Amino acid sequence: MTEQKYDLHCHSNFSDGALSPTDVVLRAIEHGVTTLALTDHDTVTGLFEAQQVASQHELNLVPGIELSCIWNKKTFHILGLNIDPKNTELLAGTQQLQKIRMERAKKIASKLEKNKIPGAFDAVQEAAGTGMITRPHFANYLINKGHVSTMQEAFDRYLGQGKSAFVNTQWVELEHAIQWIKSAGGVAVLAHPMRYKLTASWMRRFLSAFKEMGGLGIEVITARSNPDEIRRTVHFARQYELYGSVGSDFHTPKNQWVELGRLAPLPTNIKPVWELFNH
Ligand code: AMP
Ligand code: MN
Ligand code: MN
Ligand code: MN
Repeated sequence: MTEQKYDLHCHSNFSDGALSPTDVVLRAIEHGVTTLALTDHDTVTGLFEAQQVASQHELNLVPGIELSCIWNKKTFHILGLNIDPKNTELLAGTQQLQKIRMERAKKIASKLEKNKIPGAFDAVQEAAGTGMITRPHFANYLINKGHVSTMQEAFDRYLGQGKSAFVNTQWVELEHAIQWIKSAGGVAVLAHPMRYKLTASWMRRFLSAFKEMGGLGIEVITARSNPDEIRRTVHFARQYELYGSVGSDFHTPKNQWVELGRLAPLPTNIKPVWELFNH
């Protein structure tokens, strides 16, 4: 049997990724990935194209999503892996999130307008097409109009928390997000646990609630995690008996630090989340 390579977190242009689902799948194959989960923000729409291309090649595509949600006034990203993209409860949830994103986009655009930057809404809507409007779409507009020169600068000056065009967003409740994933037969996994900058005690509080609500996994390996972050995450995974996931969170070939399938191995004392996929 050929060596298996998993990447269970990435984005296409149905949310804030640069590539079409087709190109994400082809690039994953080029990089030796054998099992890929496409996990666009709050939408399953790109999965149908991805599935079709994957089935024409030797790639196992796991249908996925990355849901934006709120717990204790903080924003968390929950991956739904191995979901049924046609599940009606999940689809209703994504429609709710699409509406939230649309309302937020209007508010971000009006804040930019107050900063003498007009025209953002039409531009991001055009760029997002049928996909989700995300802050990176606004960042690209700010770059194209010459207001900033990098994505990072767009977040630092306008779009990041507390900045002039930041909109505090009421995403859906964590409990609902997990429920939709479960309804769709999927596995709920906490994405990039170290990115929330929680203290250990808040992390424990979160993971207790997450487990209670039916969460099953935690992303132990991401493209950017350092050995200390992996060690801390492994500790939480074991303490809360969570399955471990691995995902690059690939968005664009322009980011040389993040590539599809370029991931450290899952530590052997962690149960792999893909053990749950064949049931
Ligand atoms: P949204 O879900 O619309 O709030 O957009 C969040 C997305 O923006 C994340 O999934 C990242 O892909 C991207 N992002 C967040 N912060 C930054 C940052 N500082 N620099 C570049 N991209 C970022
Ligand atoms: Mn993103
Ligand atoms: Mn995320
Ligand atoms: Mn992501």
